[in-house]
Amino acid sequence: MSDQPVMGEPTPGGRFGDFGGMFVPETLVPACLELDRAFRDAWADGGFRAELDALLGDYAGRPSPLTRCQRLGDELGGVTLLLKREDLNHTGSHKINNVLGQALLAKRMGKDRLVAETGAGQHGVATATAAALLGQRCTVYMGEVDMARQELNVFRMRLLGAEVKPAASGSRTLKDAVNEAMRDWVATVEDTHYCLGSVMGPHPYPWMVREFHRVLGIEAREQCVALLGDVPDVVVACVGGGSNAAGIFSGFADDRSELVGVEPAGGAAIGGGIPGIVHGMQSFLKQDEFGQVEEAQSISAGLDYPGVGPEHAHLAASGRAIYPSVTDAEVIDAFQLLSRTEGIIPALEPAHALAWVSRERASLVGRSVLVSLSGRGDKDVAQMMEVLGP
Ligand SMILES: *Cc1c(COP(=O)(O)O)cnc(C)c1O
Repeated sequence: MSDQPVMGEPTPGGRFGDFGGMFVPETLVPACLELDRAFRDAWADGGFRAELDALLGDYAGRPSPLTRCQRLGDELGGVTLLLKREDLNHTGSHKINNVLGQALLAKRMGKDRLVAETGAGQHGVATATAAALLGQRCTVYMGEVDMARQELNVFRMRLLGAEVKPAASGSRTLKDAVNEAMRDWVATVEDTHYCLGSVMGPHPYPWMVREFHRVLGIEAREQCVALLGDVPDVVVACVGGGSNAAGIFSGFADDRSELVGVEPAGGAAIGGGIPGIVHGMQSFLKQDEFGQVEEAQSISAGLDYPGVGPEHAHLAASGRAIYPSVTDAEVIDAFQLLSRTEGIIPALEPAHALAWVSRERASLVGRSVLVSLSGRGDKDVAQMMEVLGP
């Protein structure tokens, strides 16, 4: 196991070290195996890769730029700070990379319907977008509580032609929406693909979703080397399920760069969770004394997933990456800091990564730090106005 390459392929059983696997009901095993075969086949096919690259370029707007933040770097005391601008992609975040890949794969598999889960609604909107583009039917499961909290995103999904179905069981939030989406997939697997939103779930999802986001790391590495003549000393990304972090980390896994995944203090699966099995994978989870999955709680709905992708659990266990957490108060400060110094309003999720950089500035002076700016803050300004006052 120790000779597994860092951020390479998982074992045939979908293991990253001790984590991952395919813990699904028997009825879903053939579907996961079919997806594994289909993805391997597509990923090895130059025609598929070219079609996806064309969509990423002409539709999503890739490559996303790398921005050097002179003013913020100075304010932090002399940090060479670089932002990978996933906020400038179509639909406003890195999520489009993954959904275009999966929607195209579904088409190749002859499936004309997508199901997806969503928490804050961002993955639901991205999936509905890809489905509209490729002419696929789309059903998005969303917890009842989240539907009420995120009615604008519910409206967006409907505008894009998707059906939004409430998940009414349990805490009526993201983890319940994942369960509903899996239940739907079991019953409809003939014509339906489950478009999972992060590097989590059963094999092959954690690996496949990371590969669809690898473009982020490949671009960022080339851009850093062109700008600095070197890889950055530190690469930082926020971690919900862990997809933008996995994408950018994958570009630097074999380099000397330190990898830092930042979790919200109220949803620290690696920092505060224990190993367990949920949603088809073995990973770190927040759970109570009876092993029941606990609700994650932070200022950023997009990071409120109680688990974390299994590859991150492995990167943490092996020491290749570290996973500190930041508080809501630190995130609120960082959100304002980037807005004020660089004219970029970040989403609250990547504001977690910036909050860590800001807190650790003393140890980062004189070093180069690459931050994954995973999304833009338009969706969060109303919430921040409530927090900060008009
Ligand atoms: C959904 C989302 C995240 C969290 O997802 P990961 O899989 O951890 O990347 C982070 N940032 C933004 C902008 C998001 O929309």
